[in-house]
Amino acid sequence: MFEEAKARLESVKARIARSAALAGRSAADISLIAVSKTHPAESIRPLLEAGHRAFAENRVQEAQAKWPSLLAYFPDVKLDLVGQLQSNKAQDAVSFFGAIHSVDRASLVDAIARAQERTGRRPRCFLQVNIGDEPQKGGCAIAELPKLVEQARIAGLNVAGLMAVPPADVEAAPYFALLAKLARDHGLTGLSMGMTADFETAVMLGATEVRVGSALFGERA
Ligand SMILES: *Cc1c(COP(=O)(O)O)cnc(C)c1O
Repeated sequence: MFEEAKARLESVKARIARSAALAGRSAADISLIAVSKTHPAESIRPLLEAGHRAFAENRVQEAQAKWPSLLAYFPDVKLDLVGQLQSNKAQDAVSFFGAIHSVDRASLVDAIARAQERTGRRPRCFLQVNIGDEPQKGGCAIAELPKLVEQARIAGLNVAGLMAVPPADVEAAPYFALLAKLARDHGLTGLSMGMTADFETAVMLGATEVRVGSALFGERA
């Protein structure tokens, strides 16, 4: 388990480093976030033992059930939320995660702002954009983004950047380039983009956080 996890981790890191070098970027400017959704604690532990400390889950309840026992041994873990967030779970999310990558609507901005006041915590927030204008996907419409950025800033959110998941089965590069342009337009430096299928492309186009699941843990059931 440990040797396999270590090998997968080293391989993904090497691929990030190669893409960063090609683009004239420093690999140190790219955070590899291991997306451990659906994988049980015993599958996560080898990656922790291999030294990895940045993880993400896509459900608040799953994270709350799985992570406390791991955090007891690895208290320096950074845990993010990458999945759609219901406003009634905002306080749990603000309390539990260091970053929320799925802030995509005004009502959620308000809920996070209220949760920040109650908890005294201020997680980094990525505003999620529905970059391919797909009805089934989360994220705000591109046309709504200026309003959402302004609202999030006024509400006191710690706006770190933008996040998107491009359409499946088509070339991701144009969508990553578009997200990078939108971030620049709004003076935002964080770019949460790139998954197992496309993280090298994302790194070449400016990703600062790549969210990788299958390449680190194997296929999800
Ligand atoms: C599951 C998930 C990932 C990781 O997906 P892989 O293809 O397994 O790398 C990244 N981002 C989000 C938002 C996810 O839900």
